[in-house]
Amino acid sequence: MRLDVLTLFPDLFTPFLNESIVGRAVRRGLVDIRLTNIRSFARGPHHTTDDRPYGGGDGMVMKPGPIFRALQSIERIGEKRRVILLTPQGIRFEQSVAWELSRMDQLVLICGRYEGVDERIRKGYVDLEISIGDYVLTGGELPAMIVADAVTRLIPGVLGGENSNLEDSFEEGLLEYPHYTRPRIFQNEEVPEVLLSGDHEKIRKWRRAESIRRTFQKRPDLLEKKELNREDKELLAEIRKELTEAGVEKNGKTTPLAK
Ligand code: SAM
Repeated sequence: MRLDVLTLFPDLFTPFLNESIVGRAVRRGLVDIRLTNIRSFARGPHHTTDDRPYGGGDGMVMKPGPIFRALQSIERIGEKRRVILLTPQGIRFEQSVAWELSRMDQLVLICGRYEGVDERIRKGYVDLEISIGDYVLTGGELPAMIVADAVTRLIPGVLGGENSNLEDSFEEGLLEYPHYTRPRIFQNEEVPEVLLSGDHEKIRKWRRAESIRRTFQKRPDLLEKKELNREDKELLAEIRKELTEAGVEKNGKTTPLAK
């Protein structure tokens, strides 16, 4: 896959592209990530990339010319190509979107700054607008890295185990079960016995139940959308009963500060 990023701040990407799993994927040629500095396509003595908004008001707007010329300079790779604008006004970035994008030949990500990009870029040259959530950042670089990271790890061969992403949260409309590693006892808290049993069927069932329990408690909205099979329904009924008997409700934390 080829991933092109149009940005005014290419240096922000340096550690992201060199470290960890994404860095390894780049070095192994599984993903080819190229940075294009929009400023290189600005004209005039000052290489200006932004200007005041027509109609007045605070803030600056990214000029269309430099972005247009930067887009034109990018080599086209393959048939399946999407030009994406990172914007808080886009569709919400979710795992299902990451999967769709991971099947493309080329993604071109445009990072906005200031008040955003001139509307004529959005109208004329953008296939898809993506938001990483309902909050406003100072620029599209972090959102672009988020999209690039989530998509890269879905490219075949990028993660170690062949199926290691298939059990992740959201893959099956559920949150993933809890994980434990050595030591067996940490601060008097023991690893659940079943995980030490070596009984694969029991472990599978425990993980499934924990996955359903977590989703029920933390993200009931996901469970409402999911079609459960018979085993899942039975597990859910048991979990509900258990939680009611223990007097535990769904996750009652409604704000990040609530304890
Ligand atoms: N004035 C814009 C608005 O109200 O919709 C916000 C502009 S924001 C300060 C500057 C740039 O940051 C945007 O052009 C976009 O590229 C990026 N950005 C900010 N928040 C984002 C989000 N939640 N998702 C994706 N990109 C975002």
